Amino acid sequence: MRQAVVTGLLLMLLLFVPPLLFAGPGETGGTESAPPSSAPEETASSSPLLDSGTVLRVWNGTSVEEMTLAEYLPGVVRGEMPATFEPQALAAQAVAERTYIYYHLQGGPKDAHPDADICTDPGCCSAWTSEDKAREKWGDKFDEYEAKIRQAVTDTDGQVLLYDGAPILAAFHSSSAGTTASSGDVWSSDLPYLRSVASPENGDTVPNYYSVVTVPAEEFRDTFLSAHPEAKLEGDAAGWITDVTENGSGRVESASVGGVTVRGTELRSLYKLRSACFTVSAGEDGVTFRVTGYGHGVGMSQYGANQLAREGKTWQEIVAWYYTGVTIGTMPG
Ligand SMILES: [Zn+2]
Repeated sequence: MRQAVVTGLLLMLLLFVPPLLFAGPGETGGTESAPPSSAPEETASSSPLLDSGTVLRVWNGTSVEEMTLAEYLPGVVRGEMPATFEPQALAAQAVAERTYIYYHLQGGPKDAHPDADICTDPGCCSAWTSEDKAREKWGDKFDEYEAKIRQAVTDTDGQVLLYDGAPILAAFHSSSAGTTASSGDVWSSDLPYLRSVASPENGDTVPNYYSVVTVPAEEFRDTFLSAHPEAKLEGDAAGWITDVTENGSGRVESASVGGVTVRGTELRSLYKLRSACFTVSAGEDGVTFRVTGYGHGVGMSQYGANQLAREGKTWQEIVAWYYTGVTIGTMPG
């Protein structure tokens, strides 16, 4: 009997140890997230950040600047998520960004910037906002927002999302329409951790959740023909778009336009729609898209993360929600 109790206690201890691995060194005294042995002896009361041990070459459009991950990450969280968001959503964003960096470090520099690991162009890598720019943008709120951003980064120091022991492509987007998209719905490869999952945001919590784009018929035709000259777009626009199909996440999978089958993602890009979750109708005014959500829909929804945080979920629960089957830990080796 006593043996069973002791075994039970041991089991409970074992079960409760892993969450300690998720905590930052400030919370655990650094025991689980000790700095590398090559780091200088500690003299201050707080441990050096793991993020300070990684140096990045950052292309800012005119020059390559070296900065540590600890210096880079606040800039990218400032640039990619509203500072008004819940602390646990900001922490989830910091972890996604850190993971994204390590994923790209492993793949080597992009062709767009062969001498840098990452750039500050949101169309290529991630948006990056300097402290000075943030001070201008946030005005009176700077101290409050900056403290939140920095806490999101330091509270998750060194923590990344791993699948099969490697950092994942931690894709994220602004908002989804009820469910996120699988990576294969949007890109060519279907990654096991980027699956379609439910996402709780809606029109009450997301600004511009619903948007309408009307493209005059001539403009619609010219734009489409520039990409697909073989399309037959004559006569009444009402007959131009047919056979619209949806994928499992409610986004447009494909449509036939003037007899040419294209993906919903291509229509999104051609007509600058906020997402590929849309309905389309055509008439005398031209072609009208009614769009829900914003972004490619893959991985973590930022507004969804904020909603989950409001409901009391931690950053660990938020990333586990959006990235299927990942583990949280520091970079291996
Ligand atoms: Zn880039």
